[in-house]
Amino acid sequence: MYEKWLVGVDIGGTTIKMAFINQNGEMIHKWEIPTNKSEKAQHIPTDIAKSVDQILDELGQRKSKLIGIGIGAPGPVNLRKGSIDVAVNLGWENFHLKDRLEMETSLPVIVDNDANVAAIGEMWKGAGEGAKELLFVTLGTGVGGGIIANGEVIHGVNGAGGEIGHITSIVEGGVLCNCGKTGCLETVASATGIVRLTIEELSSTHIPSKLRDFYNEHQTLSSKLVFNAANEGDELAKRVIDYVAFHLGLALANVANGLNPEKIVIGGGVSKAGEALLAPLKEQFTRFAFPRVAQGVELAIATLGNDAGVLGSAWLAKKRFT
Ligand code: ZN
Repeated sequence: MYEKWLVGVDIGGTTIKMAFINQNGEMIHKWEIPTNKSEKAQHIPTDIAKSVDQILDELGQRKSKLIGIGIGAPGPVNLRKGSIDVAVNLGWENFHLKDRLEMETSLPVIVDNDANVAAIGEMWKGAGEGAKELLFVTLGTGVGGGIIANGEVIHGVNGAGGEIGHITSIVEGGVLCNCGKTGCLETVASATGIVRLTIEELSSTHIPSKLRDFYNEHQTLSSKLVFNAANEGDELAKRVIDYVAFHLGLALANVANGLNPEKIVIGGGVSKAGEALLAPLKEQFTRFAFPRVAQGVELAIATLGNDAGVLGSAWLAKKRFT
């Protein structure tokens, strides 16, 4: 049978991930190009269009092989227009991504937020395993989120639905967040937050820790080092991870009480800690969630890694254009 392909695109701060994916969600070919941020990143649609043509050429295929393009982009997305109001990292303001890319490729384009498409990817082919009630949280440099209810992403009235990272935790005051508020979950549960908390503990306590020597020598740390140390029984690192698990568990329990999800999937670089994160998180989540909500849900680490975005984008294209 003549098989047609979907194009999945995931625009990140340093690379644009792209893939041809068939309608069963099987990866045919994936590749990436650097994110060209020059001149307020306005060349991105042209770069994507050229790259699609080039790879089609290399694979000996024609453009008629392609059904359409799904894209995950940073920042809140105007779904109707397929435009991005503001993406600070890229320099985009009121950027008409859908229109520009449709013009460049002559293919239909659908745009959504990057965390939302990653949530969809995990629902379709990852740890979500088809769960239609799914809460996805990505712990990276920041904390992103996607909420899927009855198989549909919650976008809200102006595209800011699912911003789990900006749930204000119960830290009185708290540190300043990128969003302008203080004490957001992102300031605690992101890789950046974990490193900040560890450095604070190192300088304000005398708890022995192998991280102290490392920090004094290198003046830097990573969340991975903190998890590794916690795994090896380091008291200070364990304190930090417990603190992070407390706040993340509390926030997720409260969101879950409003959604009653089947799955909560944890993605992003910090989730690579695996069981070292999941075990304390489950404990705190269960402590705070409404008992029936806690019974119905499974917490799991994301399984698709960097492929979640392109798979979720391709799913959007499949849903809209087939
Ligand atoms: Zn915030």
